[in-house]
Amino acid sequence: MNQAVLILIKPDGLKKSLTGNILTRLSETKLEIVAAKMVRVSDELAKSHYQHLKDKPFFPELIKYLKGELHDRLKVMALIYWGKDAIKRCRELAGATNPEEADPTSIRGSYGRITTKGLYENVIHVSSNEEDACREIKLWFDPPEIIVDLYPTKEEICRECRKQGWA
Ligand code: UDP
Ligand code: MG
Repeated sequence: MNQAVLILIKPDGLKKSLTGNILTRLSETKLEIVAAKMVRVSDELAKSHYQHLKDKPFFPELIKYLKGELHDRLKVMALIYWGKDAIKRCRELAGATNPEEADPTSIRGSYGRITTKGLYENVIHVSSNEEDACREIKLWFDPPEIIVDLYPTKEEICRECRKQGWA
């Protein structure tokens, strides 16, 4: 069954120059990249992305991590992969959440670490299931940024919206 999955190369992955490496590993899946961009992560976006963890003691540190404040890199790379069993296959390549428990040949097992504060810096995010993928993709991307029709859309007329254009 074809599925979409949100992948984030987190700020530690960018700082460690792992972008090419991670994309090469993911290309083993033969899945299709249907969207990709660099994103400056706002407080609102980070908190919304990790809303399921808001009561955990590590939540404030996790938000700083996703925003790039722990790595002096205020950005993440966001991609959508699409194809057969995309979620399971990308999560297998990513490895377990805890980098010390992850298969040593997986992306997180190879490059992740646990900080002295106990946060798992695991270089990559992969959606957990189809429901999460749908919520996360809608949070990170607008419909025109995705080159296939993943979910139903609606047309909105915005008259007095302010936006930045090319000069
Ligand atoms: N995390 C952590 N400690 C934990 C659980 C999670 O530092 O005990 C961090 C880690 O960076 C993880 C993220 O919070 O990737 C989101 O957690 P989740 O349980 O959703 O794991 P994932 O889906 O990323 O494997
Ligand atoms: Mg998760």
